[in-house]
Order: sequence, then C-alpha cells, then structure tokens
Amino acid sequence: MADLQFSLWPGGKSKCLTLSYDDGRVEDRRLVEIINQNGVRATFHLNTAFECREEYLPVSEFSDLYRGHEISVHTHSHPSLTQLPPSLVLTEVMENRRILENASGEIIRGMSYPFGDYNDEVISLLKGCGMEYARTVEETGQFRVPGDFMRWSPTCHHNRLGNLWESFIGRSLDSRLLLFYLWGHSYEFSRDNNWYIMEEFCRKAGNQPEVWYATNIEIKEYVTAIKALRLNAAQTKVYNPSAVAVWFLAEGNPVCIKPGELKAF
Ligand SMILES: [Zn+2]
Repeated sequence: MADLQFSLWPGGKSKCLTLSYDDGRVEDRRLVEIINQNGVRATFHLNTAFECREEYLPVSEFSDLYRGHEISVHTHSHPSLTQLPPSLVLTEVMENRRILENASGEIIRGMSYPFGDYNDEVISLLKGCGMEYARTVEETGQFRVPGDFMRWSPTCHHNRLGNLWESFIGRSLDSRLLLFYLWGHSYEFSRDNNWYIMEEFCRKAGNQPEVWYATNIEIKEYVTAIKALRLNAAQTKVYNPSAVAVWFLAEGNPVCIKPGELKAF
C-alpha cells in the first residue's frame, strides 16, 4: 500500500490564502489596490440594488475593478434570508446573480450570507439557485477546509487577526489541507481608521512561494477534485476523472495527476 497524503494545493504548495469581502462599497477600490500590489487574491460578494447610492460602487465598474478576483453573490438588496418567503429568497439570489453575470461575463456559483443568516431551508433553496458554496460569519480560528461548503466559516475577521497568520505560516505539512480564510468589509477600514491592518497583512502574507493565492470558488473546485479522485483498494493506483489537476504526496514526494490521468505507485 503506497503512502498517499492529499494535503497539497495546486503547484504542490503547502498553504492557501483567500480573502472574502462583502457588500461592494467604494472602499473596495483601495482594498483591491492593496491586495493587487502583493499578489493576494480575493472573492467579492456584491449587492446590486444600491448602485444609485454614493457609498456603493456602480455595477459598470465591477468587471474592471475586480479583474483577477472572483465576483460572487451577496443577494440583490441584502435581506436576512431566514426571514423571507422562499420565493423572495430565489428572487434575491437570481436577480443578483443575473446582474453580476451580465457585468462580469462569468458563471457565478458562490455567495456569502447577508448578516451571516442561514438555515437548512435557505441552504436547500440556494442549491436550487446553483450556489456551490456560501460563507458564514462564524470565525473558527482554524486553518481547515470546510466539511460542508454551504456552511463555510472563515478563519477570522481582519479585526481579530492577532498572531493567526504567524501561527499559520509556521505550521508544517500534515495530512490535512492548510487554508487561511480572512473576511470583512472594506468600509470598516475607513470607519475604524485602520487601513494599516490590511496593508501590513498583505505585505507579510503576499508573494510567499509556499502559498497558493486563490478565490473562494477555486478552492471549492480544487477540494471537490481531490474528493473525486478514484483509488484502487490496495491504494497503488490513482485516477483523476475531473477537469482539475491535483497535487498530492506519494511516499513523501509531491506528485501531480492531470485531468483524466491514471497513475500507479
Ligand atoms: Zn453584507
């Protein structure tokens, strides 16, 4: 039986960082500039009903501003989804999705919950709207991929970073994937006068050779591809039926298995 460990990210990297910022307010312009300077990548969960208000970005700006990052659902007008009739949940998500897809040219497949509110009924409706992941606001302080992507809880909010990044980057490779997931709202940096938090974080967390900088949906796709791998009972053969290349450790050595490839050990 070969010793196989499925704990590597694309490129054989040992760690992954993603950022997740909500609402699409004008402060996203400054946030995008900071993260772009440091090679960090993010997912932006955007509302679409408020573009006539001066504190929100116009939809026409989304495509250029967020290039290289992910645009994602945050509902049209930011209601609490647990307090709406089901038909309105569908409308809020699909209208938001339609506008974001028109603006970006992408197929939008993920979201974050307005106010962090969700329940089983909402999740079932969201899956029917084509949502493949949804982020909560429940901070874990952990560096793990979620067991359920429809209940994807972040590592921490940017106000509670503490020494979490130092602790993350000091972790050595084990049998589990290591993910650091930071979330917040860009307007909080202006309101709290603490843009230095994001500037310092990106300076130390950006441009690290062992880190894969990814959007939320890229992580979801990669983890799904790992779970889709097929192994024989003796664990001497691995087949990758997905469209995503997967890296893993075989006898301690990094190996890449391409889409459609069968490898024997
Ligand atoms: Zn929000």
